[in-house]
Amino acid sequence: MIYLDHNATTAPAPAVLEAMLQVLGSVWANASSQHAPGQQARRTLADARARAAQVLGCKPAELIFTSGATEANHMAVRGLLAAAAPGRRRVVFSQVEHAGQLRLARALAAQGVPVDTIGVHPDGRLDLEQAAAAIGPETALVSLMAANNETGVLMPVAEVAALAHAAGTALHVDATQCIGKLPFRFADSGAAAVSLSAHKFHGPKGVGALLLRQGQPFVAQTLGSQERGRRGGTENLPGIVGMATALELLGDLAAEAARLRALRDALERGLAAALPRVHVWGQAAERLPGTSYLRFGRLEADVVLQRLERLGVAASSGAACSSGGSEPSHVLRAMGVAPAEALAAVRLSMGASSTAQDVDYLLHSLPPLLEPLLREEQALAA
Ligand code: PMP
Repeated sequence: MIYLDHNATTAPAPAVLEAMLQVLGSVWANASSQHAPGQQARRTLADARARAAQVLGCKPAELIFTSGATEANHMAVRGLLAAAAPGRRRVVFSQVEHAGQLRLARALAAQGVPVDTIGVHPDGRLDLEQAAAAIGPETALVSLMAANNETGVLMPVAEVAALAHAAGTALHVDATQCIGKLPFRFADSGAAAVSLSAHKFHGPKGVGALLLRQGQPFVAQTLGSQERGRRGGTENLPGIVGMATALELLGDLAAEAARLRALRDALERGLAAALPRVHVWGQAAERLPGTSYLRFGRLEADVVLQRLERLGVAASSGAACSSGGSEPSHVLRAMGVAPAEALAAVRLSMGASSTAQDVDYLLHSLPPLLEPLLREEQALAA
């Protein structure tokens, strides 16, 4: 199987599985217990925290372990909002945040919290003029993703951090798609809080973190003594050790990014040369190295995915499947893409397992399957 869905999740690395199994079987005591096994669990937790903090460029005390990015995102927004100065009640999101974050935005709005949104340009880049207009003296916080999970387009985190700083407000960055794919250091990010999820970089599912700047006003959302009172609940020690191990395995991200960028560009060039009416979204913008978000004419994504499945290729559509049908992607809608084109969106996301052979195979086998369908589509339109 050729796996081209690395933005959805990645396979746990063998060393991650090994480290987790060891903890699962042998270090199972509660890290809050006073007895010797509890102390061993506490030491294991402190060690994993120090190792993860080292890779993430943060202080160990700034790392709050969570069940993943969704929890980290929600606790960041609610926790920063609750701690904001009186008079700062507005929350700013981009229109292309992860679906879970936009649900939170709608829930806040329904509770009476004023929500401001920042749009994007047709190529998926954030509209900085709208950002400057939205962020002001009443803003409690800004929540922005570092890279979009569908298009891969990178967001201008440094510029928005400067706007937030000038307005005296906090920036939360959802770096879920960025961490593990591009070099990142919390200390240099300009953000007050950053979310991540281990399964996006060969760690386990169900574990992630919120990095929270030391001294940042914050109100805990899950109450308990763990994580310095900022996130209650017995720690998922095997998951945390798995995440720390995965972070340490990341290696030279700049070199891996260059490798994936070359593979991705070869794939996009080859498909456009072999087939008519191939459109790649965000191609002119800075993107995650392995992400390609494209459509073949207006062939429905499901049709293309079926052909890919037949070829043994696992990929995704850009449509969020809801019960009873597919909705066009909110990201593409924000970019001004027509619904019929958005429903044709297919995402190919490469990663550690991707090779030049994968690209050759796709370029050899996919065009003959799609070419007759595109010809038929053209004939119907004529
Ligand atoms: N934010 C972004 C940008 C993501 O891509 C994802 C995962 N698709 C999440 C948040 C949520 O991560 P998790 O499901 O691990 O909580």
